[in-house]
Amino acid sequence: MDLLTRPAELACRACGEQITDAGYLPAIEREAGYEPQADEAVCDDCGFNEVGMTGCAPELDDVVEPDGADVLLYVRWTDDGPTVVSAKE
Ligand SMILES: [Zn+2]
Repeated sequence: MDLLTRPAELACRACGEQITDAGYLPAIEREAGYEPQADEAVCDDCGFNEVGMTGCAPELDDVVEPDGADVLLYVRWTDDGPTVVSAKE
C-alpha cells in the first residue's frame, strides 16, 4: 500500500527540523492506502534517540497517542515526496 496523499514537506515534531532523508510517519490505514498524520512525524535521528528506546526504532505507541494512528510508516524522501519503505502496526 502507498500513501493516499504525499505531504509536500514533513517536519519532525521532536526537533522541528525538516525531514529530508528518512523518518517515521504515523498513518491511518484506509482501504485505498495510508492516510499520513503529518503533524506527528519524527525524523530518523529523533525516532531512534528521543522517541524510541535509545538506539532502537520507535514503536507506533512511542510516536502517537493510543488510537491516534494504525501504522507507523518508515518513509524515505524522494523527488515525489515521502515514499513508504516499511510499515509497522
Ligand atoms: Zn527530529
